[in-house]
Amino acid sequence: MQNKLVLSGLEPLIATDASNFINIGERTNVTGSKKFLKLIKLGKYEEALDVARDQVEGGAQVLDINMDEAMIDGKAAMIRFLRLVAAEPDICRIPIMIDSSKWDIIEEGLKNVQGKSIVNSISLKDGEETFKYRALKIKRFGGAVVVMAFDENGQADNYQKRIDICKRSYDLMVNEYGFNPSDIIFDPNIFPIGTGMEEHRKNATDFFDATKWIKQNLKGALISGGVSNVSFSFRGNDTVREAINTAFLYHAIQSGMDMGIVNPTLLGVYSEIPKDLLEKIEDVLFDRSDEATDNLINFAEGVVAGTDKKENEVEEWRSYTIEAKISYALVRGITQYIDEDMQEALDKYKIPLKIIEGPLMDGMNVVGDLFGSGKMFLPQVVKSARVMKKAVAYLTPIIEEENLRTNTVSTKTKILMATVKGDVHDIGKNIVSVVLGCNGYEIIDLGVMVPAEKILDTAIKENVAIIGLSGLITPSLDEMVYVAQQMKERKMDIPLLIGGATTSVAHTAVKIIPEYDRGVIHVNDASKSVGVVSNLIGEKKESLLQEISESYTKIRDGYLGRKKENVVLTIEKARENKLKLEFNPVKPNELGIKVLHPTLDEIIPFIDWTPFFKTWELRGVYPKIFEDVYVGELAKQMFEEAQLMLDIIKKEKHDDLKIIYGLFKANTFNDDQIKLYNEDGTELTVFQTLRQQTIHKKKEPNLSLSDFIAPVESGIEDYIGCFAVTSGSKLETFAKFYQDNLDDYNSILVKAIADRLAEALAEYIHLKVRKEIWGYEPKEDLTVTELIKEKYVGIRPAPGYPASPDHLEKNTIWDILKPDEEIGVILTESLAMYPAAAVCGIFFAHPEAKYFGLGRIGKDQVEDFAKRKNIEFKLAEKWLSPSLAY
Ligand code: SAH
Repeated sequence: MQNKLVLSGLEPLIATDASNFINIGERTNVTGSKKFLKLIKLGKYEEALDVARDQVEGGAQVLDINMDEAMIDGKAAMIRFLRLVAAEPDICRIPIMIDSSKWDIIEEGLKNVQGKSIVNSISLKDGEETFKYRALKIKRFGGAVVVMAFDENGQADNYQKRIDICKRSYDLMVNEYGFNPSDIIFDPNIFPIGTGMEEHRKNATDFFDATKWIKQNLKGALISGGVSNVSFSFRGNDTVREAINTAFLYHAIQSGMDMGIVNPTLLGVYSEIPKDLLEKIEDVLFDRSDEATDNLINFAEGVVAGTDKKENEVEEWRSYTIEAKISYALVRGITQYIDEDMQEALDKYKIPLKIIEGPLMDGMNVVGDLFGSGKMFLPQVVKSARVMKKAVAYLTPIIEEENLRTNTVSTKTKILMATVKGDVHDIGKNIVSVVLGCNGYEIIDLGVMVPAEKILDTAIKENVAIIGLSGLITPSLDEMVYVAQQMKERKMDIPLLIGGATTSVAHTAVKIIPEYDRGVIHVNDASKSVGVVSNLIGEKKESLLQEISESYTKIRDGYLGRKKENVVLTIEKARENKLKLEFNPVKPNELGIKVLHPTLDEIIPFIDWTPFFKTWELRGVYPKIFEDVYVGELAKQMFEEAQLMLDIIKKEKHDDLKIIYGLFKANTFNDDQIKLYNEDGTELTVFQTLRQQTIHKKKEPNLSLSDFIAPVESGIEDYIGCFAVTSGSKLETFAKFYQDNLDDYNSILVKAIADRLAEALAEYIHLKVRKEIWGYEPKEDLTVTELIKEKYVGIRPAPGYPASPDHLEKNTIWDILKPDEEIGVILTESLAMYPAAAVCGIFFAHPEAKYFGLGRIGKDQVEDFAKRKNIEFKLAEKWLSPSLAY
């Protein structure tokens, strides 16, 4: 399959024929946003960056930046803003659209933007010469470009002019200037409808038809447009504007529109536009009668924003046809009437399979489309899936009875999902399973800690079309490589999807693909999984595999090329440059090990809610997320549901919160080792740390966690602590109860809450240690927000995290604290903690102690580490593999 479009910020944006509509954030545009204009005018660039960040967090896939305003120096503003954006990885991960009607601003933009951007726009307006000059310049800068349907005679305002100008532009660009067709994005002009002027009656249909023609005849080119313009003549009536924009966009996408500049506050859900209003709008869009515009205008006058339509609806939808009722219940995730509706459907359809393949699948397709186009969000989809599952469960016994009689078997495509051996995390995997299940695939979910052999045996036995592997911790990456090797060994021909927190495109390209070449794809986003899977099993499979192989080869070459430059200091040199601190340790009030059982009420206030929303793919920071235009309402609802679930957990006693911690005397020795002592001064154990070997540009030290503890030679008695916490295995059981009850939604909700509680326990015990148990900060008085921002003195690094990326020190913690015996948290062979909702770490109290990233280390340190730990070099290398510089 052809890539339709390849753009990039820090991350690639690759659109293919299977991709969904790409929405372009438009609030960093001074012509469209008064707020942004004001910030730029006042020189408040930091706040202007926040506008950009909000857009990215809100799901914009491309960021449109426009500085065309008479009162500002557009060129200077463009340069400054782009440079600031480039320094913000969370913003510049998406590609930029450099938007200006002034060529010199565009040119400055091209010079100052990183990644592959889109220029908006050029056209034949100023003649072929200028057009050629600009197109070639953009080509040389490596950009894609929006080409307006505009020529020497003006803007194309009918079908014929649109296609003529676009064809002329395309021929010039592709045949004469050597442009890649997929770098050309036509804007065939979206004009207002319902203006009352005779010549505007075909404004919408001409756009749709021109779009179809371009997609058919100008191969490879894409279509974009500014959507809000279509409802321009209904300014002041946002309800009607929103409905017009939504309906227009729906039909434009059907015609082939690929991307657009859309104001999200003026966009709704197509299927939710009231039927009578929609009919009047579509009459105008498609110019169905002479009275269409008048009818819409009259009707619009009666539509007031924010009417309480919801209340009537509740009653009303129950009187719809059975198909409409099913669709309604699916889209809203209402489970209440499933049995009733399935019975009614059975009366009508007689054959249950017809209900599944008919109205239920139709409803799920609506859900899939809404999700794909960003109008429904993950929690809603998971709720829809619950309706689907329960409806199917109602019908299944009847189907099975029939199968006995007729011998029919399911023909659904099967997908196997598993969390790899040694790993216990499955929220992400379950979410992807639900989303794929919604799209008509049969999911075979093997659960967590699944050995490669079982995965592959099942895949063969069940004849699955795709295998999806998931894992959260770094050792799982190796296990995935092993699965890939085994697939090759068995000469399998099943594509492999890779997902999970530590997986990456780079790891997939560099480590997994060389082991297995029948399709390995990294997918970390539930919403993207559907498109990828449907292509992998369709006719486009071979061309997609080819395309993937090419793009991953490029990534691999790029990575390996860069890696050669990974020169590091020798470990001796790094040690010479260690951090030399002064030590005035506070002696802990209590030394030794203790177990605590805090109550739910003590822990809930310490919850950091932001990651909870992230689990549901709702981006934004708590509590600001509640004001987000895209996800604010839903975030509020999810938060309320979490509170209700916490109440249930409390009432039914599913919580079993446990903490074990210990504080010990400690000193470093041999630079990188921390010795822990019993109270009587005998040796308890040794933590092995790792030291940065990066060649720092500035005069920064090469850090190791051991630098934060007084060396034995100093004669100073210092201290260290460690801990492990869990919200308990009862919550796992509770989550499983929901899952067995066909309720993935509540199962995921419980797991997400269990994770939050585990993190909150860590926050709680850390605070208690600082203030009382160790007592080195007795007067600390920080808000929870400040705790989450880590404003306190000291740190609690976790094994497997950047400062100590090897998981092996968990074994050391387990040796001394025995969390397995004391609080029921065990370590798997990959050193994942089980129950999954568990956290562990080491306490450092030094005021200078801070988190850092180890970065890449040399072979000399790996050898030294192996010796210190008394393990085989190869084994050390395996555990440290994500950090090796060679
Ligand atoms: N508030 C968050 C906290 C979890 S992430 C939540 O509720 O999810 C923060 C934790 O990750 C820290 O407390 C520390 O244990 C670990 N961590 C973060 N950066 C680290 C680093 N560079 N090295 C080691 N551990 C780190």
